[in-house]
Amino acid sequence: MTDIIQLLPDHVANQIAAGEVVQRPASVVKELLENAIDAKSTSIKLVVKDAGKTLIQVIDNGIGMSTTDARLSFERHATSKIKSADDLFNLHTKGFRGEALASIAAIAHVELKTKTEDSEIGTKITIEGSEVTEQEPEVVAKGTTISVKNLFYNIPARRNFLKSNNVETRHIIDEFHRVALAHPQVEFNMLHNGSNVFNLPYSNERQRIVNIFGNKMNEKLVPVSEETEMLKINGFVIKPEYAKKSRGEQFFFVNNRFIKSSYLHHAVSTAFEGLLKDGAYAGYFLFLEVDTKSIDINIHPTKTEIKFDDEHAIYAMLRATIKHSLGQFSIAPVLDFEK
Ligand code: ADP
Ligand code: MG
Repeated sequence: MTDIIQLLPDHVANQIAAGEVVQRPASVVKELLENAIDAKSTSIKLVVKDAGKTLIQVIDNGIGMSTTDARLSFERHATSKIKSADDLFNLHTKGFRGEALASIAAIAHVELKTKTEDSEIGTKITIEGSEVTEQEPEVVAKGTTISVKNLFYNIPARRNFLKSNNVETRHIIDEFHRVALAHPQVEFNMLHNGSNVFNLPYSNERQRIVNIFGNKMNEKLVPVSEETEMLKINGFVIKPEYAKKSRGEQFFFVNNRFIKSSYLHHAVSTAFEGLLKDGAYAGYFLFLEVDTKSIDINIHPTKTEIKFDDEHAIYAMLRATIKHSLGQFSIAPVLDFEK
């Protein structure tokens, strides 16, 4: 019998991984913004052209990379963020899988410019389809600039599958909102086709929400705050009278990471019971903090799902806290009916 199994070449393996990590331009935006956050940046700029189909560039003022690290960062499973399996249950960074840059470099033209605080000169690397085409010293400021051009240039099926510029831009803005809301203490800017879309200065959670969604949002917010040993809840719900007929603003963050959870959404929705008009949705910006050891985020490559050790307890506390906050701020009669 002849043997027929062989190891896939790196660029093929990277392209397969890219299929999971990079669905659309917005996925690249998310990965690059998160890397900039992990690099302790205080100012992050996102530059997009043609809904990210032509260019996605993220400029940060973070810790930068050494020349060796800059080259290694594009290897699959290369990460500075974890060292052992134990670290998976004690995560303090957005990234840890070490596959975003390798995946992106497999399906786009990528240019990286980076410099650390203590190196005199920086590094520039260009990569196309996992192949390094250029690497040389470059005079740059401290921090990292990554430019991702011509996404899916070598996967026509994926490129053709992209939606209209309007739709893809919407997805990009959603990702931008998620990261910017989770990090109000970081300054963010976004440019699309040369025009300013967002200028978000250093601020707090409330001000960041208002800066993103407009001044009218200020009066709509009801603060939520509760703390036990297991869970800390902070943030805002939108007053029921302002609830929209579309899903609108629904944000959960767990340890500063945006997550999707129909289970927690249910907890919030039922806390609004009796307060919303027919067909209206609860709106919320909720920041949950839990012990990193009590969650598992390594469920899906995009890390928007999470597993809590004790999700029932979190559900109950979230629901009770929001009921309480709404009770303090809204007109009593409807709530009394609930008791
Ligand atoms: P991960 O974020 O999961 O570690 P990535 O492929 O996104 O994997 O990045 C690989 C590595 O490259 C990171 O662990 C980090 O050390 C480095 N890196 C990526 N982006 C930046 C950045 N903007 N600033 C500094 N280092 C970066
Ligand atoms: Mg990353």
